[in-house]
Amino acid sequence: MVNTQFFAAWIEEIAAVVSAQRDHLTQLDAAIGDADHGANLDRGFAAAREALAAASPATPGALLVLVGSTLIRKVGGASGPLYGTAFREMGKQFGDRPEVDLAELGTALDAALAGVRRLGAAAEGDKTMVDALAPAARALAQAVRDGLAAGEALGAAAAAAEEGAKATVPLQARKGRASYLGPRSVGHEDPGAASSALIIGALKAAGSR
Ligand code: ADP
Ligand code: MG
Ligand code: MG
Repeated sequence: MVNTQFFAAWIEEIAAVVSAQRDHLTQLDAAIGDADHGANLDRGFAAAREALAAASPATPGALLVLVGSTLIRKVGGASGPLYGTAFREMGKQFGDRPEVDLAELGTALDAALAGVRRLGAAAEGDKTMVDALAPAARALAQAVRDGLAAGEALGAAAAAAEEGAKATVPLQARKGRASYLGPRSVGHEDPGAASSALIIGALKAAGSR
């Protein structure tokens, strides 16, 4: 079971890793976009962390909805509404439960992914954040079915996201700004897939705190 504190730790971990990887994410976006993905997310998750400090939400659901709304307000671009929706959908899935188990976390990740797909209409293989989020959601669901412990399950999700992000390199982008480049988008890792892998990886880090 994980509680509000776990999700607060998750956001702290994301803010830290996004800040540390800010230039890397921006470089990925410089190759096939407009060189702002690192700055966008750094601004957004710093704001999310501040919003949590100010509001101290009482439940995982309230916390994640606040994070999502803050991202929508602060990040802009394509990724702001997409990540904002992902966190809001996760939060809505939890309702007002004070604690959630690994299976519920898996269901919430499915809801986040569904929200991203609804808004962005990207399928797997379109070279977007979906290419990291979808395998992560599948790996977590499989880990729950296999009865893995939380640490191992989150590790499996993180590894799947990382692999999914790396697998965007040879793809041609079919959604977002990178799609304007056509075949010239081939040969670069998608910045949003890379940041999604960091976000899922931070879940594992929050779990082992
Ligand atoms: P912008 O492209 O507006 O500058 P960002 O640089 O912050 O926004 O985010 C770009 C990332 O957003 C892409 O690398 C991709 O992963 C993701 N993205 C863009 N469009 C879509 C979409 N329609 N569906 C899913 N993800 C998308
Ligand atoms: Mg960009
Ligand atoms: Mg932009």
